[in-house]
Amino acid sequence: MSSPINIQFCGATGEVTGSMHLLTIDNKKILLDAGAFQGTEAKDKNSAPLIFDPAEIDYIFLTHAHYDHTGRLPMLCQRGFKGEIITTPMTREITFRIMDDSLRIQKEEGKELLFSEDDVKKAKSLFVPLNEDYPQWQDDEKKIKIKFIPSEHILGSSSIFIEEPVSLLYSGDVGGGSSSLHSIPKPPDTCDYLIIESTYGNRNLEKSNSEILSQLKAAVESIGKNNSRLLIPIFSIDRAEEILFMLRELNIKEKIYLDTPMGIDILDIYSHNKYLLSKISDEFIKKNSKELDKIFHPDNFERLRAKKNSDELAESSESCIILASSGMLEGGRIRKYLPQFLPDEKNILLFSGFQAEGTLGRDIINGYPEVNVDGIPVKVKAQIRKIEGLSAHADKTALLNYIDCFKTLPVKIFIVHGEMVASLELSDAIKEKFRIKTVLPKINEKYDLAAGEIRERTIIKGISIGNVRLNFENISGKKIALFAGGIIDNGNEYSLVSVREIEEMLHDLKKEMVKPLPEEIIISETHIRPETLSSATPPSPEELILGLIKIFKAGYVSKGLIRDLMDASERGISEYRKVIDKKIKNDALILDENDLRRKGIQIPDRSLISGQLEDLLKRSSLMEQLNLQLALHRMFTEIK
Ligand SMILES: [Zn+2]
Repeated sequence: MSSPINIQFCGATGEVTGSMHLLTIDNKKILLDAGAFQGTEAKDKNSAPLIFDPAEIDYIFLTHAHYDHTGRLPMLCQRGFKGEIITTPMTREITFRIMDDSLRIQKEEGKELLFSEDDVKKAKSLFVPLNEDYPQWQDDEKKIKIKFIPSEHILGSSSIFIEEPVSLLYSGDVGGGSSSLHSIPKPPDTCDYLIIESTYGNRNLEKSNSEILSQLKAAVESIGKNNSRLLIPIFSIDRAEEILFMLRELNIKEKIYLDTPMGIDILDIYSHNKYLLSKISDEFIKKNSKELDKIFHPDNFERLRAKKNSDELAESSESCIILASSGMLEGGRIRKYLPQFLPDEKNILLFSGFQAEGTLGRDIINGYPEVNVDGIPVKVKAQIRKIEGLSAHADKTALLNYIDCFKTLPVKIFIVHGEMVASLELSDAIKEKFRIKTVLPKINEKYDLAAGEIRERTIIKGISIGNVRLNFENISGKKIALFAGGIIDNGNEYSLVSVREIEEMLHDLKKEMVKPLPEEIIISETHIRPETLSSATPPSPEELILGLIKIFKAGYVSKGLIRDLMDASERGISEYRKVIDKKIKNDALILDENDLRRKGIQIPDRSLISGQLEDLLKRSSLMEQLNLQLALHRMFTEIK
């Protein structure tokens, strides 16, 4: 029987679309997102039978408005969902536009509708109006408590932090901070379970804001010189706003058109709520408050809402910058520009985002010399470029940094929303860096979750295994946990043991192996002080050899030390003396105590043996250089 609290992953497993996860808390059923699948087989996957009855779902919590996180809402309503939809006000507003738009596209395509206008209406009516920008919410029984936390991905996007009765953070899509509009997101201080996206779990984008700007600038300058056109395929949410923001920053004088009806609606929402964009409110307001109204409106900017105006622009040859959707050239108004635009080698097609396999955008980026646009063969002669580094998703390093922000690390991390290679690489990196258990769930797989705070945490920014506790510290930019102890190989796993445990083991289990140090070696002699060294007598070569061999056999002098002394003696007596002084100062004359223990030798008072050895070595520095060299060589040959 499964636990009363469990989670089942109904999409975005081993792929980036279709985010929808079923969380069961006792008798309550909750969906985390209700995203549609996109790409190949999308239609089949979206209309496939569900593992739950939508009529039994009590709540849907939405992280953000993107279609791959909200696209199945009308279909769920069609199949009987009548619960409540809980999200941020901005996600609600943008999701309404997305549902309208996807219905419009289906109608235009003239294919069988996946859902009706009534389903969209019903879905809209089930949203619970919440006023806070990033609200908190609890159910009527005050059993389930959640909090929306900015995820810096698009306007209104958030991670959903379920605080009670289980401590679970669902990251949603995590922004990466390379954006001009969004800062780097921060998780709450702690959670027991984390569900994290992994779109770029295997990539680092490594482009700074200014590098991104300069790519855009180069393209604009080039069309200015050639009196040609720059066409930028855009995703209607966030990317259009970001490009417009950058064009304004660059102070572009060329004419700029935004040709996408839904994009224009979204631009209005962004303009009215720009104070919610963290980078804008943090930085821009401070230094440039007068121009805040115009942040998405470069000088020569025009929106083309009417189809007639859009058709005219496509026919004309005016030198200008056109932002149109869709971002992968799969539909939308951008397609009508292509037959005239692509064959002109002076034009530039500048991609601003990811191009999925099988899309027209991907074919063009792959260098096809000719493509088919709505039945018309079109030669591709325009320059094809891509703005590298522009992304609404955190890359591998940013995802790891995000996890590093937790004051107390989660006990288990579920990795979703990524191609398998990306999820796997992120999983390995998490395990290596944080030693946290990770899970790559398969479609519809169910996992039990423990209620309440998991008290017995084994990981708090470090590891506790047995009696050994390791705390990771920053050493030269790397997280390193130092420890004195040992690793026991148990056959199928390793465990750490502390020095004390090793001592106890040696004491108890190897008692019979422990032999006392030969007595004659631990006879103490008076230390020679530096001022009395000149009056001391040098040892004979035999005395030096026998003394060193005796101490070596007892495990107190290493071959390395003898070799160092030999080298130094060849460079002269004063060099030899320097080495001895240094070794004595560093206490390096005596071998590692662990090594002695391994050999089963009882550890005597360190000062006794080092005192005797010190005297012998100091006196040896009074020997004739040749005698000293010969003695050390003979000593070395014997111990070999
Ligand atoms: Zn998204």
